[in-house]
Amino acid sequence: MQTYDLIVVGAGPAGLLAALAARRAGLLVALLERKPSIDTLDRLCGQTLVSVNDYYFNDLVYYNNSTRSIGFVKSGISIPYTGPVQPCYAWHIYSPDGVRVAFGMPEKTRPLGSNGAVGIAIDKAALFASLREHAQALGVAIFTGMDVTEVITDASSVTVTASETTFTGAYLIAADGTNSRIARVCGFNTDRTFYCYLLSSGGYFRGLRLPEPDILISSIAYTKPAPGFMFIFPRPHHNEHTVAFLTLDPRTDLAAVARYFMQDNPLFAGWFKEASMLRSLASSQHILSPVINPYRNRVLLAGDAGSCQELENTGAMLSGWKAGCAVAAAVYEQHKGIAEQAIADYIRWWQEIYIKACPHETYMMNFVLPYIVDTEADLDYLFSIIESPLPPCWNPYAAIAHLGSRLHHIMPRIAAERPALAQKLGRMSLPLSEIIRETTKACGQDVMATGHGKK
Ligand SMILES: Cc1cc2nc3c(=O)[nH]c(=O)nc-3n(C[C@H](O)[C@H](O)[C@H](O)COP(=O)(O)OP(=O)(O)OC[C@H]3O[C@@H](n4cnc5c(N)ncnc54)[C@H](O)[C@@H]3O)c2cc1C
Repeated sequence: MQTYDLIVVGAGPAGLLAALAARRAGLLVALLERKPSIDTLDRLCGQTLVSVNDYYFNDLVYYNNSTRSIGFVKSGISIPYTGPVQPCYAWHIYSPDGVRVAFGMPEKTRPLGSNGAVGIAIDKAALFASLREHAQALGVAIFTGMDVTEVITDASSVTVTASETTFTGAYLIAADGTNSRIARVCGFNTDRTFYCYLLSSGGYFRGLRLPEPDILISSIAYTKPAPGFMFIFPRPHHNEHTVAFLTLDPRTDLAAVARYFMQDNPLFAGWFKEASMLRSLASSQHILSPVINPYRNRVLLAGDAGSCQELENTGAMLSGWKAGCAVAAAVYEQHKGIAEQAIADYIRWWQEIYIKACPHETYMMNFVLPYIVDTEADLDYLFSIIESPLPPCWNPYAAIAHLGSRLHHIMPRIAAERPALAQKLGRMSLPLSEIIRETTKACGQDVMATGHGKK
């Protein structure tokens, strides 16, 4: 049986970069993926790089057309990407009646070319193919069709069982995504708070008639008993977009949310009138508070495996790379008798750059607004008095900060004109679990939390 320095579970953005970083430093790396082919994308994703016009996870992501690569300026990461790209020049949020809050105006940002983009749409399957080829060329041992079910750790090694095969390594990086089984079986979930699900359905569409084809668009449906959402992402293929319909609440019928946007609401239905769906996709996530310490017993978490909702493709790639480098340095430390610090540095990076700088409650505010502003009339009024445009933005944390500062500014006016709404907005300072209490209740006992998981 082959023994590796590092076993990586999951070949998404986090796992692929973890494997590349460690292999680049000379480690023997096994990458185990459940899907039969790494190159296929079987889960709904907007497939954009979040975000390209400000710092995200303390780094700046870029696409370099001349080298056909994606990189991170501060961390010095550069990875091949030979697929197509489509810059996205703004993010507009519509109320159901069509009142718009704009993060950037495309007529101003578009002329700036890539310097005016807030995000870049990529083809994620093409990214996977580029990274898989690169990993193979470097000598990462790739095993597909491997569903990891068991992890056993001892003082010097980790053994995993995947589809009746065992693999042993000095370390394991769990990059198995938002519903991470590794996090659960290794006991990382015991102190996490379960909030809700994030359920999505949708897919690729051709022929949408949008006000602007090259921006990100989202909206809210006041479906009962809980709201639904629509996100439209440009795709880097002619006349194509990815559309995602989402809800946090399992009682809300996603088909009804899709019907609302595609057929019932006159504004949005017009956008879909001549469109055809090319491929349907879905996703289902358990939303828990993030893992505070992403390391225990030779197992490191990277990417969504340890996060609340999503680190996004960029955060997942960065954390995967950092985790891969940390394991490489830890193996060097042990071989050369150097005092250990690499794993502690990774933990510090996770806690400073993710847990503290990107609070999960802030991220979740992107989905919680209609729980607070709970009528269409209130949302219309609110959107109509927010002086738009706000700064161009596709960063979920920064967007909430921009909105918050505008709200602060207009609060006296709201208090004077709509005191009941002002009172509702006061609920924004409540803990997330309080705001979405009924939705959490509707989700029932969460299977991801083990033992002492808080509800
Ligand atoms: C609707 C929606 C839209 C999104 N839009 C965007 C966007 O526009 N931009 C953006 O940056 N992010 C977006 N995201 C988030 C983004 O998809 C994730 O943050 C990112 O994919 C996380 O990468 P990861 O590598 O941590 O996990 P994943 O991409 O989930 O990869 C995990 C991998 O592990 C494998 N795996 C799981 N369990 C096992 C197991 N037991 N054994 C072996 N393998 C296993 C899975 O098959 C998968 O390949 C979106 C997410 C959703 C749901």
